[in-house]
Amino acid sequence: GRRHEVLIVGGGAAGQSVAGSLLQRNPDLDIAIIEPRQEHYYQPGWTLVGGGVFERRETVRNMSDVMPQQVKWYQAAAHAFEPEQRQVVLEDGERLGYSILVVAPGLALDWEAIPGLKDTLGQNGVTSNYLFDLAPYTWELVQSTRKGKALFTQPPMPIKCAGAPQKAMYLACDHWSRQSRLQDLQVEFCTAGAALFGVADYVPALMQYVEKYGIQLNFQHNLVSVDGSGKTAVFNVTDPEGNTTQIEKAFDMIHVCPPQRAPKFISESPLADAAGWIELNPETLQHSRYGDIFGLGDAGNTPNAKTAAAVRKQAPVVAENILRALKGEAPRAVYDGYGSCPLTVERGKIVLAEFGYGGKLLPSFPEWLVDGKQPSRFSWMLKEKMLPWIYWNAMLKGHEWMAKPEVLRHRPTEQEAQEACNFAD
Ligand code: FAD
Repeated sequence: GRRHEVLIVGGGAAGQSVAGSLLQRNPDLDIAIIEPRQEHYYQPGWTLVGGGVFERRETVRNMSDVMPQQVKWYQAAAHAFEPEQRQVVLEDGERLGYSILVVAPGLALDWEAIPGLKDTLGQNGVTSNYLFDLAPYTWELVQSTRKGKALFTQPPMPIKCAGAPQKAMYLACDHWSRQSRLQDLQVEFCTAGAALFGVADYVPALMQYVEKYGIQLNFQHNLVSVDGSGKTAVFNVTDPEGNTTQIEKAFDMIHVCPPQRAPKFISESPLADAAGWIELNPETLQHSRYGDIFGLGDAGNTPNAKTAAAVRKQAPVVAENILRALKGEAPRAVYDGYGSCPLTVERGKIVLAEFGYGGKLLPSFPEWLVDGKQPSRFSWMLKEKMLPWIYWNAMLKGHEWMAKPEVLRHRPTEQEAQEACNFAD
């Protein structure tokens, strides 16, 4: 079979950013990407599509337009891994070899886990910003819903962009508030979790909006089925003693965030940890058991917020460590767990959550410009005007002026140095 110096599985935010970062460092590298899709999506834009701010077409480009010219593109899905043979098996059985493998296929949305949901998506008032095709339907529903009950659901963690379920709700409430409809609407947030947001520092600012919009918070409410034509949803509700009961709620509209898991070809592979995600060293993003494999993005098991913002910081770390690995050197660049969640609390204002491993706050801007714990107009401008540009023109292309500092602080331990030598050609 064919063989490449660097083989990348997935041409999404993570795969493309690593390719860009590698090419900035060494334009002569032999890189290939395995990616089945014709389109590349800017998923962070879908919240603004659902909020009536962006058009759907602003969030998609042809894969061929984001794929660097020097990169060999296999338009196919990876099917299995043979790490001992340093090979990836494609769906048609073809095998591709590598010196270094990067695994970045994102995560899987598990619509089937909720009986009744898939068949009614896009009809009967059932929507989700988690799909390119459906985000415009969210905005349609928000505009057409005048009274009754609106439900917004959030499944158990981990999910990508953990704030997205409530972002959809706040933007809907903002519209209803401007149209003076809020008093005729009952809005409920039904989350499988026990808190409004995982990092407590941001909760007070969010609670101000929950109160302003009159939202009812239902914690430990896990959506288990949807009856679209009957317009009802069933939740498993867990009380503080751990007892679970089922309750049914009627709705006029429901925004669903689906349960999420690692793609099957990852969870069933030797690369997975017990929960199915790619098992990585959280600092170096090297695979814990295979020194010639790296991983990043939503499919990794590192305990950061699964966001494109995390990928922006991860990609240069992976690129740097790959170049060292190709020379038989131990990884030296480290990732601090940075991730970011711009919570769109109203049209024109955002609570900009930025944090790393352990919930440590990692603000990008000085506090006089943005206090992440307060709603901010600057942060909205960042999200609406600047971040999409940064994504397409800087992040994917490997220009790292906003991501560099985390690189090259780490001194390898003796064990890491040893491991690196074990796989060098
Ligand atoms: P993806 O970008 O999903 O790319 C994965 C790629 O792998 C895809 O192109 C896919 O086709 C490919 N692939 C899948 N299976 C295979 C296979 N078998 N073989 C080869 N290739 C395969 N992030 C933020 O930073 N800020 C936000 O405000 C934000 N908001 C969001 C709102 C919504 C509604 C959603 C859905 C996401 C949001 N995100 C946000 C999260 C962000 O989009 C993801 O974290 C990011 O895209 C992860 O990058 P990735 O490359 O790991 O996965």
